[in-house]
Amino acid sequence: MREIVEAGGLPLLTPVNEAWFTSGEVAIQCCASCTTLQHPPEEVCHACGGTEFEIRVLRPRGTVVSHTVVHHAPSPALAAFVPYTIVLVSLDDAPHIRVVGNIDGPVSIGMRVAAHWEEFPTDEGPTIRLIQWHRMA
Ligand SMILES: [Zn+2]
Repeated sequence: MREIVEAGGLPLLTPVNEAWFTSGEVAIQCCASCTTLQHPPEEVCHACGGTEFEIRVLRPRGTVVSHTVVHHAPSPALAAFVPYTIVLVSLDDAPHIRVVGNIDGPVSIGMRVAAHWEEFPTDEGPTIRLIQWHRMA
């Protein structure tokens, strides 16, 4: 996975997305004005237009609602890893929140999954932690 770091394939951190990409938790934006949870993290609340957020940590568990196999790398940094499988997961604590991540092994819609994180230390700034999913035992 060192290839991803060297090829610049990691997300660029911003104040808005840093908790999601570095905490190693399911750190979801919660609007400070209307308490709506939203993901992926953005500058503005989709419900009320608010711009202040807190972070809510949800349980790293959910259900696969969609999946696909990537055969053509969207970035040269990912070329060594194709084919790989991406899942869209509905979180147990907030089913309207859908989280994208990688998964190894067979996958099916409705499969129960739990999250873990792959760590990518960087030369500058915090360690990037990317969510990965696995079949729940
Ligand atoms: Zn809001």
